[in-house]
Amino acid sequence: MTPIQALHKYFGYTEFRHQQEAIIRQLLNGGDALVLMPTGGGKSLCYQLPAVLLPGLTIVISPLIALMKDQVDSLNINGIPAAYLNSGQNNEEQQDIINRLKAGKIKLLYLAPERLFSSESRLVTFLKSLPISLIAIDEAHCISHWGHDFRPEYLMLSHFKTEFPAIPVIALTATADKLTRQDIQDKLALQNPAVFISSFNRPNISYTVSPKKNNYQQLLEFLSIRKDDSGIIYCLSRASTEDLAADLREQGFTAEAYHAGLDNEIKARNQEKFLRDEVKLMVATIAFGMGINKSNVRYVVHYDLPKNIEGYYQETGRAGRDGLPSEALLFFSAGDAFKLQRFAKVDGNEEQSRIMLKKLDDMVKYCQLQTCRRQYLMHYFNEPFPEHCGSCDVCLTEFKKFDGTVLAQKALSAVTRLNQRFGTTYVIDFLRGSKSEKIREEHKQLKTYGIGTDVSKADWQRYFAQLINQGLLQVTDDQYPVLKLTDASEAILKGNQKVEFILAEETAMAAEIQTPVYEGGLLQDLKTIRFNLAMNENVPAYIILSDAALLEMATYLPQNMNELGNVSGFGEVKLKRYGEAFLNAITNYSQQHGLSSQMSSKRTKPAPRSKAPRSSSAGTTQRESFDLYRSGKSIAEIAAQRSLSSTTIESHLCSFIQTGEMNVAEMVPQHKMQPIQNAAESYGTDRLAPLKEVLGDGYTYAEIKAVISWLKRDA
Ligand code: ADP
Ligand code: ZN
Repeated sequence: MTPIQALHKYFGYTEFRHQQEAIIRQLLNGGDALVLMPTGGGKSLCYQLPAVLLPGLTIVISPLIALMKDQVDSLNINGIPAAYLNSGQNNEEQQDIINRLKAGKIKLLYLAPERLFSSESRLVTFLKSLPISLIAIDEAHCISHWGHDFRPEYLMLSHFKTEFPAIPVIALTATADKLTRQDIQDKLALQNPAVFISSFNRPNISYTVSPKKNNYQQLLEFLSIRKDDSGIIYCLSRASTEDLAADLREQGFTAEAYHAGLDNEIKARNQEKFLRDEVKLMVATIAFGMGINKSNVRYVVHYDLPKNIEGYYQETGRAGRDGLPSEALLFFSAGDAFKLQRFAKVDGNEEQSRIMLKKLDDMVKYCQLQTCRRQYLMHYFNEPFPEHCGSCDVCLTEFKKFDGTVLAQKALSAVTRLNQRFGTTYVIDFLRGSKSEKIREEHKQLKTYGIGTDVSKADWQRYFAQLINQGLLQVTDDQYPVLKLTDASEAILKGNQKVEFILAEETAMAAEIQTPVYEGGLLQDLKTIRFNLAMNENVPAYIILSDAALLEMATYLPQNMNELGNVSGFGEVKLKRYGEAFLNAITNYSQQHGLSSQMSSKRTKPAPRSKAPRSSSAGTTQRESFDLYRSGKSIAEIAAQRSLSSTTIESHLCSFIQTGEMNVAEMVPQHKMQPIQNAAESYGTDRLAPLKEVLGDGYTYAEIKAVISWLKRDA
């Protein structure tokens, strides 16, 4: 079985994400790998899929028992035999697992690090008697002092390479910085590891910062249109998590609090309720979240200012693991920043204080940005990113900037004509040529009267606010405030300087990723079915199927098992076990509402790769173009000679980049490679137009197409 076939069969997915395929190949070839991928990027699959394909056992080291259970449940439900050993199990349970291991009936074994190498542990000796194929170390940054989550027991993992010298090791983390990365490599003694660094961008999360004013009211508004969604609200103090959770419950939300000061039992119970969708809202300190694998968290709110970008990014990253559009909302006040400054100062450690204050400062800068927030975040993690993401609050507003010079001139001359003696309302009525008797007769005779009739009152109000903000007008402090010119006004009136206006309301073009039109009633039915199945299996709902899979079904309405198998997330085993329950609901609903299958409009799964030799996979007309190109002709010349468009010739050449016969460098300068790759990772490769838009004029369609072909090249 090839990796792509296994992906389809066991996990029900159509394509690999990020560099999953290359990582998997590295392991199947017996090499070590270090994988840096953002939260939700799909790290687990990088070792779970090889584990299925390799003959022996895969050992997975993971720091959190809760997470292990989740992963093992998920694997078993997909028909992959997996188990974990931990101190919570009784002798009998442990013995059962050991027997199954001896019989070769388990493909993946999850362990906490301290179980392995502690002095009295005989586990290593036992494991050595088994055929081990692969060792995976999750949350590998825990081995480093430089990471934000050092765990001393992880240091014991350095014994792996001495105890199991010939077994490939894969280390995975979502922490990107260089120091930590090097430390992981050294401490684990990875041998010549292939290092895979994915883009840290999370394109399905949109970022918004809102002034912390009436924030409770703002929060209620935000939540009121997300009543069915799960979300996390982070607060700074333990007390405020409990207060806020209580307030929200009073408003009719299902909310629980979580912080380190609660009893373990309460913590576990609240977390479980959240995982199982019995509680939609978790109000928590940052103690909550590590290892929370819940894929349908739709939003993360920071009710207070986070201390640094690293933490903030990790916390927001808990939203949208299923790839559906999700929100990150932060309330910012200068007061919060001031408060945190005091915390940041560590007595007697100047160096530490300096670093913490610098990190806080970077966080504050993020909140005060006038430029794309995603770009700032990506640059913070040393990753290039274009100027506009199109889905943060700044981009959404900025997209509508326009040249407002003429409007500004009209406004300023109205103020001048009225001798700087009237307030905004009067000036706007005057500009709009109001017939009202409130406008003095002599003013109705002026040339400026009515020169702004084409602009609505509301829009004029926004433009005046911006003129004031930009210092081009000022408002007096009097009881009846009037508009006055400023020193800067003259240059505008004389036409020596331009003015830019922003349209205040947000554009809907927001995210490229938009939720498709789906059958709401059906989605509810499907959720109920999933909920019941989850109860029966005693697992959280998202382990049965992700929200994304339900949404797909409610959108494309598959009408038979075959079509259902093409829904993302339905591997063979899941299809057999649960397919019918969902299918019945869909066909019933469709009949009642006179609907039919829309599966043909869903992107189809790629056909299994042909076994044909590479060179034949590009056709003859393509080859003709390629041969001409090889003979030294330019694309334009070939196009002319063959009476085809240049675009067609470019596509022909790209097919040879994909087969590996042509080097991508022939079509794309080196410095453009990475930005195009990043854009492709962030926005997908289905449509070129959005990529062209983010990359800008410096990039041609041909270059973008070439890099995409290169990314899709046959392995
Ligand atoms: P990470 O450990 O990197 O935070 P996970 O391994 O939990 O991320 O994966 C996040 C989600 O993405 C999971 O629901 C997983 O099933 C899903 N996923 C992983 N790889 C793919 C893929 N190739 N196609 C579709 N979904 C995927
Ligand atoms: Zn942006």
